[in-house]
Amino acid sequence: MIIGLPKEIKVKENRVALTPGGVASLVRRGHTVIVERSAGVGSGIQDTEYEQAGAQLGSAAEAWAAQMVVKVKEPIKSEYGYLRPDLLLFTYLHLAADQPLTDALLSAGTTAVAYETVQLDDRSLPLLTPMSEVAGRLSVQAGAYHLQKPIGGRGVLLGGVPGVQAGHVVVIGGGVVGTNAAKMAMGLGAKVTVLDVNHGRLSYLDDVFFGKLTTMMSNEANIRSILPEADLVIGGVLIPGAKAPHLVTRDMLATMQEGSVIVDVAVDQGGCVETIHATTHDDPTYIVDGVIHYGVANMPGAVPRTSTFALTNQTIGYVLQLADKGVEALSASKPLLRGLNTIGGKLTYAGVAEAFGLTY
Ligand code: NAD
Repeated sequence: MIIGLPKEIKVKENRVALTPGGVASLVRRGHTVIVERSAGVGSGIQDTEYEQAGAQLGSAAEAWAAQMVVKVKEPIKSEYGYLRPDLLLFTYLHLAADQPLTDALLSAGTTAVAYETVQLDDRSLPLLTPMSEVAGRLSVQAGAYHLQKPIGGRGVLLGGVPGVQAGHVVVIGGGVVGTNAAKMAMGLGAKVTVLDVNHGRLSYLDDVFFGKLTTMMSNEANIRSILPEADLVIGGVLIPGAKAPHLVTRDMLATMQEGSVIVDVAVDQGGCVETIHATTHDDPTYIVDGVIHYGVANMPGAVPRTSTFALTNQTIGYVLQLADKGVEALSASKPLLRGLNTIGGKLTYAGVAEAFGLTY
């Protein structure tokens, strides 16, 4: 198969979908890989490294003309023109929060498999995990930075100092993002509270971090009670493939401390904070009712070197299956079939259909 690796063109997105090692494993199996020139530069990977791995270098149009295109982020408007019926697209899509792209994929008839909905039998999401690990850890760095007074924050040092209490980090959603955020926040010495609706997650977190964090069932009353104490709120809620529920509502902001920070990592699924909207690394924050909102939808793009390698580690096994078997790989692999979002102009993912009131 011919596989295309275009350069990411979303603002400040420096990741690339495959490392030279990933390309080499495709080439070894007899596939042709066309890498757009300078696609890896943002991740510190030179064109020559791809050439040594056996790739051909080409233009964006040449990479997009391949039978399968492997990307990192969803196609943006200027890329919609590359979508076509005989294209197999494998990338993060987050369609439930993006009706224009859903419409573009449907009208082009593209076969689109979304990383974030590839799901194992135990319901885990193997291609979301590496980026959630990165974003969870980064959310605390971003929050700690924006809590500084010169940046507009409350002026709180998350770890406190001897004799002064630590900052309080409230994490809503104790999955991969939440666990990694909690780990980083505890590492800095912050006080940490995690809320989740899944008692199993709360028990797990209580077991592994015994005595170092507080767990709470996630419900409106508990969220309302904890927000006034929070210096940093991290949103890490996920209902797979569906829009995130708004758990922090506009009226709750008035109860929060002036200059406190919300980092809603779930913004790529619409966010679990009513007042969040997607922002970019160029202009990551805005203020509503005195509370700093951070809504960068591609957080791992800030650490592309780490993220590119972490992503390829997980995607390459699926890329090889798709390259070897084409769309037949979807019938052969239940996890991949669960990742299918659109094919032949039809929507095949329930959460996306529900978000837009469409049938599937
Ligand atoms: P996950 O499935 O591991 O965890 C989600 C958690 O949310 C689960 O533990 C679930 O029980 C919990 N949850 C569901 N409903 C809840 C509720 N009402 N209250 C509290 N908790 C609830 O998912 P994840 O991998 O941690 O991803 C979380 C979100 O972060 C996703 O939307 C993902 O797409 C997003 N994400 C964003 C970025 C970014 O750059 N902004 C990067 C990576 C991941």
